[in-house]
Amino acid sequence: MINVLKFGGTSLADAKRIIFVSNIIEEKSKINKISVVLSAPATITNSLEKIIQLCLLKDKNYKKEIQNIKNKFDLIVKNIYKNNKNFLFKKIIKKINHEILFLKNTSKKIYLLNKCSKHIFAKVISRGEILSTQIMKQILLSKGHNITLINPVKKILAEGNILDAYVNINKSIKKIQKIKFKKNSIILMPGFIAGNKKKELVILGRNGSDYSAAILSACIKAQSCEIWTDVDGILTCDPKIFSNAKIIKKISYKNVTEISNLGAKVLHPKTIYPLKKFKIPCYIKNTFNKNFIGTKISNYSNKKIQNIYPNIAYIKNVTIFIIKTLNQRNINKIYKNLLKINKKESIILFFSINFIHRQSINIYVNNIHFEKVNFIIKKLIFNKKETYKKKIYKKISIISIIKPKLYQNKKIIQNIYQILYDLNIKTMYDIKNFSKNSISLIIKSKYKNKIINLLHKKIINNYKIIQIFLFGIGGIGQTLLKQINQEKKSLKKKNIIIKICLISNSNKILFQEKGIKINSWKEKFHTIKKKYFQEKFLINKIKKIIKKNNFINPSIVDCTSSKKISKEYLYFIKNKFNIITANKKFNTGNITDYKNIRKKININNKKFFYETNVGGGLPVIQTIQNLKQTGDKLINFKGILSGSLSFIFGKLEQKILFSDAIKQAKEKGLTEPDPREDLSGLDVARKLLIIAREFGYSLELKDIQIKKILPQLCNSNSTVQKFLKETKKFNKYFLNKIKSAKKNNKKIKFIAKISNKGKCTVQIEEVDKKDPLYEIKNGENALSFYTKYYQPIPLVIRGYGAGKKVTASGVLSDLLKTIV
Ligand code: ADP
Ligand code: ASP
Ligand code: MG
Repeated sequence: MINVLKFGGTSLADAKRIIFVSNIIEEKSKINKISVVLSAPATITNSLEKIIQLCLLKDKNYKKEIQNIKNKFDLIVKNIYKNNKNFLFKKIIKKINHEILFLKNTSKKIYLLNKCSKHIFAKVISRGEILSTQIMKQILLSKGHNITLINPVKKILAEGNILDAYVNINKSIKKIQKIKFKKNSIILMPGFIAGNKKKELVILGRNGSDYSAAILSACIKAQSCEIWTDVDGILTCDPKIFSNAKIIKKISYKNVTEISNLGAKVLHPKTIYPLKKFKIPCYIKNTFNKNFIGTKISNYSNKKIQNIYPNIAYIKNVTIFIIKTLNQRNINKIYKNLLKINKKESIILFFSINFIHRQSINIYVNNIHFEKVNFIIKKLIFNKKETYKKKIYKKISIISIIKPKLYQNKKIIQNIYQILYDLNIKTMYDIKNFSKNSISLIIKSKYKNKIINLLHKKIINNYKIIQIFLFGIGGIGQTLLKQINQEKKSLKKKNIIIKICLISNSNKILFQEKGIKINSWKEKFHTIKKKYFQEKFLINKIKKIIKKNNFINPSIVDCTSSKKISKEYLYFIKNKFNIITANKKFNTGNITDYKNIRKKININNKKFFYETNVGGGLPVIQTIQNLKQTGDKLINFKGILSGSLSFIFGKLEQKILFSDAIKQAKEKGLTEPDPREDLSGLDVARKLLIIAREFGYSLELKDIQIKKILPQLCNSNSTVQKFLKETKKFNKYFLNKIKSAKKNNKKIKFIAKISNKGKCTVQIEEVDKKDPLYEIKNGENALSFYTKYYQPIPLVIRGYGAGKKVTASGVLSDLLKTIV
């Protein structure tokens, strides 16, 4: 029984890691016979490729690049030697110098001749694997192990493109079988490399040492093939882009092929075929978390493994060539020609033809092949009779969402496009992939990370995200923040994430696109120095923020009483915001705006919730809307809509003097800072107007008749303190009112009414025992709806209708209704 272990460049990036890997090899070799395939240390292959590119560009910096490679290897071996004096330092330095000399001579030739054959290219860029294998061999020898080194140029037979060759497994098996392995030896082989029929070195494509490991596993009939890298296994996304990606513990050969074909770099797509053919399970393991089980890839049927393989993969650095011509046949010709060329060269990622008219073809290419493909295309369309149009888009990424039966799930597809819509990002194209389990979006690379993060959160994790702009940090605003913070955990359990992106009062703005930490928002807010002395400047700044950024399912939460903010609702809606408001100014403004916003809400598919406009957190608006939806009609309405007045009138009934009742209400924080505002009845009138409009009455605020609570005008310019003293003069007036009501077994209340003809009044009235409003006191609200369905007994809503907590929770509940 034999196991194959492959260590990638990330596991061999420096001396420390190489020593770490050698320890794993030793440990494993004690348990089983093992074969080890090694990559070049990370970045070395890129540097080698760069040397050639620089030479071809006649750029002498190629010399620096060679020196960098030399320095890197010198440092590695020096540090290994520091740790292990048995390591034959000089011998390995000689090998390094030998390869560096080869690089110097070869690159000079490339530079002078200005060309580089594929054979030379392959030889140059495979030097990293040659050296890392030599280093590992010396480490293991120094620890007393026997080593059998496989030369893949001789033993792995490959065909096709010299730079992206395919291995002939059957012939390679025969060659490998002829090797005489040293007794108890550890087998070592450089990855990435093979040999063709002429025994020339060829390479297996970038990132191809995974494939080498699979081939070796097939050739020696390994029990398993372990790919050791720098992540815990195959995750739901590249963790470098989305750090909370989750591990996929089991995955089938078929599904992993799809993921890696769509760009997941963790495993080269060619790796799967030999493993599948020879039924060898593959494990993806983390060199730096070696005891973690990792991912097992095997012949699983999808039914057996749950949650199979949701994944987001991407290919970056793509260029798109678009060729258009009027003649369909020419498109077909181009397509066939390119197909032929690609069979030899493997330079094109994929094509897509506009199937409706067949008048254009898109060619997707990795940037590194740009020049070559550009040249080929030019040749194909140059000097032809027909006119061709060619367009090139660079800096493109292809992002793919892979989920079982994706195409049957309309909601997911909808969600994907909603995210792009919210982010204001246009996909250049989208491609339904052959398997119907994935969709690929072609987008500008600058959006890549943002889109991947959101797609993962919303499509893979199923998170429902709400981003909010909070206006107003008085009692309600602050309590709302507290409540969101308290509920954070339980919301997360339901996959709901609320992000506060902006907090503002009338002169300051705290903005953080990624979300403000609620625990420390106050300190942050206080440290803001920039102040806006006019609200309109502050609003302009907020508009700039909206223009510059894109938000996901954003909502304005208006906890102010500002008219200036409410005037901007339409702007916010047009910019894809929902509106949640405790501010009554908009809904009591002119009726044209009132009606217009409702139209715009529908057109823009947004939400406008204002449950807290009437009755604090009580379900008033929602109830009216439900009644209307089921065809009910209002006959008349009667309600106590002010918490402060409910308290004051309740106290009067308990024989407390009017002036004392006001004082108590104020002390309890139930009144506005100036209680005259409550006593004016204007706020109740506003609430009544909102109720009436909700039932379909086209009224304005001036149509609400207010009969003043106080019998005569007080000096409205006096201070609050003075006013409170002045209230004593009304004590008698109220005592008399109560007395005369009591004679008829009635109580006085401050009542808002809509008559059956739609007349709205706000005034003190006497109510009898049968009336649902009779018992209302202590700040409670009550609303009694007498309707076509609810009669003779009316529908009554009753409860605390004011106070920070209930109102903030009403706002939060509105907010949660915006979840999509
Ligand atoms: P090695 O040098 O070991 O061959 P690679 O860089 O080729 O390593 O592949 C490992 C990298 O693949 C990870 O560091 C990670 O950034 C990336 N990657 C991309 N997609 C995924 C995924 N779905 N799961 C895990 N890693 C991924
Ligand atoms: N070193 C090669 C590359 O970087 C092969 C590999 O790492 O798999 O492409
Ligand atoms: Mg790799």
